[in-house]
Amino acid sequence: MFIKPRPKLSGTVSGGLFKRVTEDVIKKDIENIGKSGDYESYIKDEFEKYAIKDNVNCFVRILPPHHGNPGLDFMKHIWAHEYFGGDGGYLCLGKLEKMFSIPNKRCPLCEKHVEAQMVGNAVLAKKLRAKEKYIFLVFDTAPEPQSTDVLVLVAPGKLKDMIIRLCEHPRGGVNILPDPETGQEVIFLRSKVKGDLFPSYASAQLGNVFPLTPGTQDYDIVAKQLVPFNDLLAISTEEDLDEVARYIITTPSNDPQPEQQTTVVTGRRGGSAPPPSAPPVTGRVPSAQPPAGSRVVKFGQRR
Ligand SMILES: [Zn+2]
Repeated sequence: MFIKPRPKLSGTVSGGLFKRVTEDVIKKDIENIGKSGDYESYIKDEFEKYAIKDNVNCFVRILPPHHGNPGLDFMKHIWAHEYFGGDGGYLCLGKLEKMFSIPNKRCPLCEKHVEAQMVGNAVLAKKLRAKEKYIFLVFDTAPEPQSTDVLVLVAPGKLKDMIIRLCEHPRGGVNILPDPETGQEVIFLRSKVKGDLFPSYASAQLGNVFPLTPGTQDYDIVAKQLVPFNDLLAISTEEDLDEVARYIITTPSNDPQPEQQTTVVTGRRGGSAPPPSAPPVTGRVPSAQPPAGSRVVKFGQRR
């Protein structure tokens, strides 16, 4: 029987086997506690992602579109291959034309998806398929916000549909949720039952009107931080995705053990820089803690 030789560790050649983990690496890991599997590497590092929490109400104020977005839409439709170990996900190179109006490329992850289908591994094929996601720019308007800065919300189709449904006014017409003056919060709930592999979106409703009025702190934050969607997104190269695809072993098994069938890829590609340190916390933090379930009076509503 052929036994694969162990790869030679360069550390054994000079200066011993082990290397010391630097403090910066540990600090970065500590910052990422609770974020594993919940961030996507296609959102550039300098933008903070809205972390959706399970089984508690999530409060977001969807922000008006940036003038740099074609069609002035307030969300961006993307296709991404997700959850490859620590790396999160990658934009599908086969959908570049739809996403950015630039020519499509060969997508090594789509090729792996097809390969998994060909060998009859439905579980892996499903996992490898490019999934549709929707990107919103939001404020976290919860009583205890994750941040007072603009955050990037990556929503699956189910949540996007719930949000868009809230734009239908019960009396007819439309309710423009991101409107600067009359825009409202969206309160949504993602529930996860113990034992279930994935959470599901349970409900979404309208919250307070949250006006973005010139002269307020929130307005200034939006003016400074709102960017066109395309500037948030990182497109991998074919070579990068070839490298990721190299670790995905498509076996002809239908055995539902997807974790064992996808080799975890660790580390981030591209050596991206750590995010810049966050600016000091500003205005939106309530001075007194409201009772659970109540809503914070928003900056623009204190008039
Ligand atoms: Zn693809």
